[in-house]
Amino acid sequence: MMLSRSIVIGMLIGGAVGDAMGAPFEGLWSDDIPNAESLASSFHEYHGYPSGQYTDDTQLTIATIQSIVQNGDIVIPDVARSISELWRHHSVIGPGGACTQAAEKYLATGNHFDMGAPVGQAGNGTAMRTAAIGLWFGNDRHSLVSTVADISRLTHQDPRSIAGGVVIALAANILASDHTIGAAELCNALADSIDPIDTELASLIRALPDRSRSPDCKKFIAAAGQPSAEFTEPIISPFVIPTVLASIYCINQHRNSWIDAVTSAVQLGGDVDTLGAIVGAMSGAIHGVEGIPANLVADLQDSESIAALAVRYHWLLENRLQTQACGE
Ligand SMILES: [Mg+2]
Repeated sequence: MMLSRSIVIGMLIGGAVGDAMGAPFEGLWSDDIPNAESLASSFHEYHGYPSGQYTDDTQLTIATIQSIVQNGDIVIPDVARSISELWRHHSVIGPGGACTQAAEKYLATGNHFDMGAPVGQAGNGTAMRTAAIGLWFGNDRHSLVSTVADISRLTHQDPRSIAGGVVIALAANILASDHTIGAAELCNALADSIDPIDTELASLIRALPDRSRSPDCKKFIAAAGQPSAEFTEPIISPFVIPTVLASIYCINQHRNSWIDAVTSAVQLGGDVDTLGAIVGAMSGAIHGVEGIPANLVADLQDSESIAALAVRYHWLLENRLQTQACGE
């Protein structure tokens, strides 16, 4: 499996652009979010921040990839350190509760064991940061599942959040090597891999392609994993199960266009910076950086340094995947 530089840049930049596109609308209902044309034309004002500002989703992704690039490997305690350092400087934008709790615990103890928020807190703070890590494993998907589970566990010990982190990394890994894989085949592969971690999320993902044909699919996604629907209108909460289902749904419905996939994600309403970040990264794995509107790439905060990090990550991946291919 070889990866083009465009795919790796597309994932990091795509995630950041999707995050920045959704950030001004976090928590809003679908009806209160601008139409796709308006979202694509330029970043909207995000109060108190410069245009094109991304948030915690991108910050934690970058911290993870920086750790990998610096070590030339995935070193779990260093990923914990790199993520937690963000909190030392109080520079995290819109952080989630579980990640904050985990990072503060790490900063207080220097210990990455059991730093993750306890079972019961099943937020999407894992899935928001794992897509780009999926590229690391090439065709070694067995290692992907166990290592991404370890990375997810740093912030969340709840199996639903761990499974959600694994699903997004694996989806990106699969899509980067097979852009046209069918929705059912993709969902079955994802579900099979996380079945041992969380059977509930696995069966919901397996049901998603059939459900996607029904007009009430968005309601199904928004209420998934909850005893009863929280609201009468569908909205995607920061709970990991709806977030992961919504992300895969958008990717499957809009496989041919980066901007269609990401604007459809942001328009779902709710935790839309995270949805934008996940779908932007996964869609970047399909279309590469050329698939992302150039005006948004140019206006993204730190666009050049994020692309530079992606280039270093790509160089590392090329060497690693070449070695993997030689060993086969
Ligand atoms: Mg965010």
